[in-house]
Amino acid sequence: MILSDISLQLEKDYSKLECLLDGNSIYFTLSHINSNISLVYDAFVVALLPLLLEKQENIVVQGTMDDVLCKQLNDVLIPRLCQVNKIAITLKVIPDVTENAIALNKRVNATGLSCGVDSLATVKYFFDNDIGLDYLTFFDAGSHGIYNGNYAKENYEYRLKNSERAATTIGLPLVKVKTNAHSFIRGSFESAHSFLNISCSLATLGLINKYHYASAYAVSQSNFKPGDTSNFDNFLLPLLFTSYFNTHSTLQTKTRLKRISYIQHYDVANAYLDICTNSILAKKMNVRNCTSCDKCLRTAATLELYDSLSRFDKVFDLNIYHSKIDNYIAKLISKKVSIHEREFLDSWLKENKITTLQYWKAFKLIAKRVISTIGS
Ligand SMILES: [Zn+2]
Repeated sequence: MILSDISLQLEKDYSKLECLLDGNSIYFTLSHINSNISLVYDAFVVALLPLLLEKQENIVVQGTMDDVLCKQLNDVLIPRLCQVNKIAITLKVIPDVTENAIALNKRVNATGLSCGVDSLATVKYFFDNDIGLDYLTFFDAGSHGIYNGNYAKENYEYRLKNSERAATTIGLPLVKVKTNAHSFIRGSFESAHSFLNISCSLATLGLINKYHYASAYAVSQSNFKPGDTSNFDNFLLPLLFTSYFNTHSTLQTKTRLKRISYIQHYDVANAYLDICTNSILAKKMNVRNCTSCDKCLRTAATLELYDSLSRFDKVFDLNIYHSKIDNYIAKLISKKVSIHEREFLDSWLKENKITTLQYWKAFKLIAKRVISTIGS
C-alpha cells in the first residue's frame, strides 16, 4: 500500500486533510485544525493499521511521518498487533522521511462526546475530578451505520445535533471530524473503532495533544481476542503515541453497569443520553432513543435497577419500555450473551428481578429453538 500526495485545504467552516492510498482519495474533514505545521501522514497511517493487518502488506509513505510514531509502530505496536492476530510475517510502515514534526509545548486535552454511557461517564469524571478538558469531539469514522450500509448520514446528523446541544450545555467547543478511512477496511478488521477514532484526533495535526478515549470495556473485561480492537485497547492505546500526542483508555476500573450508575444523576445524561442503535426509528418516533432495540432496553432496565429510569423520561419512551422489557429479558435468558449482557443479566438475577413470566417466555423461546433444530 502506498500513501502519497498529502494536501490540506482550508475552507471557511471545514478543513480537508487528504492524500492518496494507491491512487484513491482518503481524507479527513475537520471543524478545527492546527494549520501552522508541516503536513505529516500520521493520521492516515494509524487509520490504516487494521488494513495493514487485513491485507498483510506494508504501508509505504511517500512523505513525512513523526519520528516517534514511526519507531513506536514498527518496534512495538505492529509486532503486538501481529501477535494478537496470529500473523507470522513482519509488517512495517516505511516513510521517506521522519521528523519530530510538530514542536509543541502545550497540553490540550480532549475526549469524545457521542452522548453514550461511556463518553458521558468520562466527561463527568473530568469535571468531578477538576481535570481540565479543552475540547469535546464528535467523530464520524463509520460508527453511525456505514458498516451496515444504510442510513449512515441520517444517523450521523441526528446524533450530531444531540451532541452539539450537550456540548453547549457542558460549555466546551465540539471538534467535528469525518473520515472515509473505514471504507477501505473489510472483513474481520472492520471493528477498528479505536484506531479510527485516534486517527481523527491525529488529523487535527497537534491541536489535540492528549486524547482520552472512552473504551467500551473495563480492564477486567478486556482480552486479546483478535478482530475487534475494543477487546484490547486498554492495553494497546498507551503504546500509540507521537512526539506531540498520546492517548489512553478512560474509566479503566468501571464496568458498563458502574458507568450507568455513575451518570444516573448527571443532568447532561438525563437530557442527552443517546445509546440507541436504531436512531432512524427514534427520529421517526420523535424520541432520543427508540426504547425497543437491545441496547436501549438493556440501558433502561439498568436504570430501573437503580430506581433512576424516571429521570430519563425525556430520552426514553417509558410506555414502550414497560411493554417490551419482559420479552427482552426472556431473550437474554435464552441465548448466549455478550460481556455487557452478562453483566446486566447477573445484576438482575442478583436483585431477584426476573419474573416468572420472563422465565416462562424464555422457556418458550428455548423450546421453539430446540423444535426447529430437530425439524431441520
Ligand atoms: Zn434503540
